[in-house]
Amino acid sequence: MNSATNPWLMLLDDLVEDWIGITLPRPAVAMQEFIQKDGCNWCGETIRKNEPCPCASRRLKWNRVIRLGAYKEPLSSSIVQGKYSAWSDMLAYMGKLLGERMKGCAPPNSVIVPVPMPMMRRFFRRIDHSYVIAVHASVASGIPLKRALLRRNATPQAAKTATGRKKMSRNSMWLRPLARAKGKNVILVDDVLTTGRTLEVASNILKDNGVKSIQVAVLAVTELPRKGKKK
Ligand SMILES: [Zn+2]
Repeated sequence: MNSATNPWLMLLDDLVEDWIGITLPRPAVAMQEFIQKDGCNWCGETIRKNEPCPCASRRLKWNRVIRLGAYKEPLSSSIVQGKYSAWSDMLAYMGKLLGERMKGCAPPNSVIVPVPMPMMRRFFRRIDHSYVIAVHASVASGIPLKRALLRRNATPQAAKTATGRKKMSRNSMWLRPLARAKGKNVILVDDVLTTGRTLEVASNILKDNGVKSIQVAVLAVTELPRKGKKK
């Protein structure tokens, strides 16, 4: 039984939501020290002087990365709180910022596609964070939203090792029937770009189905360890 059918669970959900609403500050207040910062156009990493960007040795599946900033404070805690305490106001706020960034970057015939969350995880987390971000980015940018991808239930990414993540097979995700992705310029939306594996799987599927171009839009990008970095 889930919270949509059990009235007691529904009541509990409402109470928890109200309580969270009281204790959490307004998103704009929590994020006030945050300044948006562009990263590398291709991989989204923070650009550092005199250091080669990690994408110099990577083959990327997308044309561009749009981000709000690096995965650092206050962005990182806002994302964590948004995801794990189902603080949808915060995700909405950040999604709106991301949507404003997309304006003017999107070629004609663009659609926003959220990276799908497996059903089971969505049930336990109570919120599909990429979807919430994508909805508000769509409203802010005027670019239509299309839930073109579906995803099979799997062990949460965070619980897996780096090798496990890499092995994530491409049949863990597929295109929704009648998604009509052909010829579109897709903006793939996710919360955080880390290894990029999930986004690569999604990009491969979209490209195999005739998508014209792919841009990635994320709230934050984690900084990868760099080769040849002096201590
Ligand atoms: Zn780069």
